[in-house]
Amino acid sequence: MNFEASRAEALDKLNNFIENNLSRYAKLRNFDFGPENRSNISCLSPYITHGIINEKEVIRRSLEKFSFSKNEKFIQEVLWRTYWKGWLELRPNVWTDYLIELSKIREEFKNNQNYLKAVEGKTNIECFNTWVNELKEKNYLHNHTRMWFASIWIFTLELPWQLGAEFFLQHLYDGDTASNTLGWRWVAGVQTQGKHYLASEWNIKKFTNNRFSNIKLNENAPPKLSEKTYSITKKDFNNPQNIEDKSLLIFENNLSFEISDFQNYKFKKVHLISNKNENRSIKLDEKVLKFKSLLIRDQEQRLKNNSIDCEITDISKIKNIENSCALYPTVGENLDYLNLNNIKTDFLFRKLDQYSWQYCNKGFFNFKNYIPKIISTFS
Ligand SMILES: Cc1cc2nc3c(=O)[nH]c(=O)nc-3n(C[C@H](O)[C@H](O)[C@H](O)COP(=O)(O)OP(=O)(O)OC[C@H]3O[C@@H](n4cnc5c(N)ncnc54)[C@H](O)[C@@H]3O)c2cc1C
Repeated sequence: MNFEASRAEALDKLNNFIENNLSRYAKLRNFDFGPENRSNISCLSPYITHGIINEKEVIRRSLEKFSFSKNEKFIQEVLWRTYWKGWLELRPNVWTDYLIELSKIREEFKNNQNYLKAVEGKTNIECFNTWVNELKEKNYLHNHTRMWFASIWIFTLELPWQLGAEFFLQHLYDGDTASNTLGWRWVAGVQTQGKHYLASEWNIKKFTNNRFSNIKLNENAPPKLSEKTYSITKKDFNNPQNIEDKSLLIFENNLSFEISDFQNYKFKKVHLISNKNENRSIKLDEKVLKFKSLLIRDQEQRLKNNSIDCEITDISKIKNIENSCALYPTVGENLDYLNLNNIKTDFLFRKLDQYSWQYCNKGFFNFKNYIPKIISTFS
């Protein structure tokens, strides 16, 4: 399975999945048949994470093929991302605290042999080592495998979840602040306090089609504890007036202007913002940076084809752009950069986020009840 960095490839993957494999998704999605056999899932996350295609587009396309009831599982999964994002937007300190904890733990573990063996794929757990290599080579892991991986990391190898989340973000093409941080917190048992995810030998064997044997795991570990609780921060997600004639900043999470809610506005110029490792708290693998840079170039080309004045601009140059507004980068490294450097710009929020994030104050099971309402706003 390859991830070519273009919108054309993303649309191709989307259409192929909807036409040929969506009908079996609910039944087969939990199986990891190995990196060469991924037809039971969509593999769209590297594109959706970067806004190359978006949730609305994917859900609409799926509803052209099947009714909501036949399609419910897939739509729910697509909207998990929107939910995690909204959950973190309402509690941004979860991300800032994570980075603070990470920098301490990184120092403590830099010579820890268990940690070094884990990231080298040299533990005594064969399936785990295979997944470490797969993550580094393919920059993608199946969802169920991410759950097993994180669980083994935390409960069998007894390593801090914060380091595991960093390892994922460094190597995943779909690395996403919200889905990743909250996914790891969920496995550890600190997201839904007291409820953790324990990987087990029988479950791994069954859902990998018996590709692995001799899986000795700690299947009785208690959840991790955290004294920290996070209350909801009131934030304004309203869009400003008079955005036309401003320069528009687009970050790496919104790389398809043509499907944004703002495509019909006339901006003075579009700046596609690139961000280097030197500005990031978590240093990304070269392949991931390359993937991002190719996606940015692909968007540049599409804008130029539509005669939209645009350029790729390093994040350090934003301070020189006067009178700008930005497609909201969401909680994460790019927003951190703007805040740290006291850069002021007006944020433009997607309608989908404005509408759905109001339902992210509680758990996903509550959010799920609003899914028909959410999709009725655009389908
Ligand atoms: C520990 C852990 C870390 C994770 N880190 C990331 C990450 O950094 N970036 C990321 O995009 N996803 C992350 N996920 C969520 C999920 O594993 C991936 O989105 C999914 O595996 C992508 O594969 P797919 O596109 O084939 O998914 P499909 O099963 O085809 O699902 C379709 C789409 O739904 C969304 N989706 C599905 N499952 C989830 C989920 N559990 N959470 C959020 N969105 C979901 C994705 O956009 C995905 O492309 C993580 C999950 C766990 C357990």
